[in-house]
Amino acid sequence: MTARLIDGRAAAAALRQRVAAQVATFRAATGRAPGLATVLVGEDPASAVYVRSKGKATLEAGMESFSHSLSPDTSQADLLALISRLNADPAVDGILVQLPLPPHIDANTIILAIDPDKDVDGFHPVNAGRLAIGLPGFVPCTPLGCLMLLKDTLGELAGLHAVVVGRSNIVGKPMAQLLLKESCTVTIVHSRTRDLPSITRQADILVAAIGRPKMIVGDWLKPGATVIDVGINRTDDGLVGDVDFASASQVAAAITPVPGGVGPMTIACLIRNSFVSAARRENFAYEDAL
Ligand code: NDP
Repeated sequence: MTARLIDGRAAAAALRQRVAAQVATFRAATGRAPGLATVLVGEDPASAVYVRSKGKATLEAGMESFSHSLSPDTSQADLLALISRLNADPAVDGILVQLPLPPHIDANTIILAIDPDKDVDGFHPVNAGRLAIGLPGFVPCTPLGCLMLLKDTLGELAGLHAVVVGRSNIVGKPMAQLLLKESCTVTIVHSRTRDLPSITRQADILVAAIGRPKMIVGDWLKPGATVIDVGINRTDDGLVGDVDFASASQVAAAITPVPGGVGPMTIACLIRNSFVSAARRENFAYEDAL
């Protein structure tokens, strides 16, 4: 079998277009644009690239981008003061603090300081709790994007066995919660799991969020599985995922490439979450399909 490619670039472009159309209606109705504030502390080149592309995507959707670039020696107190100002600013609907932060700043303290109703990354414990018990909130962008790709590919997910490899707070755990909400049978595996291949071979849906280049090989998959590769690993061969694409694509029915799979969906979902935040704050009715 040669797997169908799940085109994350096309899906992300379509989502961004739908959001832009809704933003235009929002602006006409409210007289203001939704606003996303990004905060970058330090000069990490990869983080700077991410923040720049998030700001660009925000503007392309017709929203306002407020970008705050702080020096690497910014104190935690100064960063908390900025977040407090952004929480209070009515023009700011979403706040994104780019991670990782320098070692002298405690990321959890910063995340806790963000107003949960402006936490468009969905990292605040209030939003993690809302997701766990099925209340509206913000879902982290990467797993939300994975879910959208899965629904586009498979339609109904109920009853399928989903195996999530990885249990991080930003990808694995919220991914598992989302799949459970879709009535999948969910198994989460991690570095202490025994005989991982025997579990991945049972997966109708496999989501790999590990950070280990090409770890999941074709022989570990159930024939006909749908594979979502979240991994982004920089190697001598360039960017590769957590799935060995060459062997996996011979066994799976559908698979995301790296790059061009989950990555573009992450930014598109951030734009989506920022618009949704503005819509909620203004009681503006928006399309649920976003
Ligand atoms: P973390 O390092 O936070 O988590 C990795 C998870 O993988 C952990 O739960 C860990 O288990 C598990 N793991 C590690 N080694 C093994 C192993 N040998 N067998 C089974 N499980 C293992 O990473 P993230 O969740 O933040 O990111 C995962 C990957 O996704 C990375 O490559 C990252 O770059 C990428 N990423 C991509 C994004 C995108 O937009 N496409 C966005 C975010 C991340 P344990 O808990 O036991 O240590």
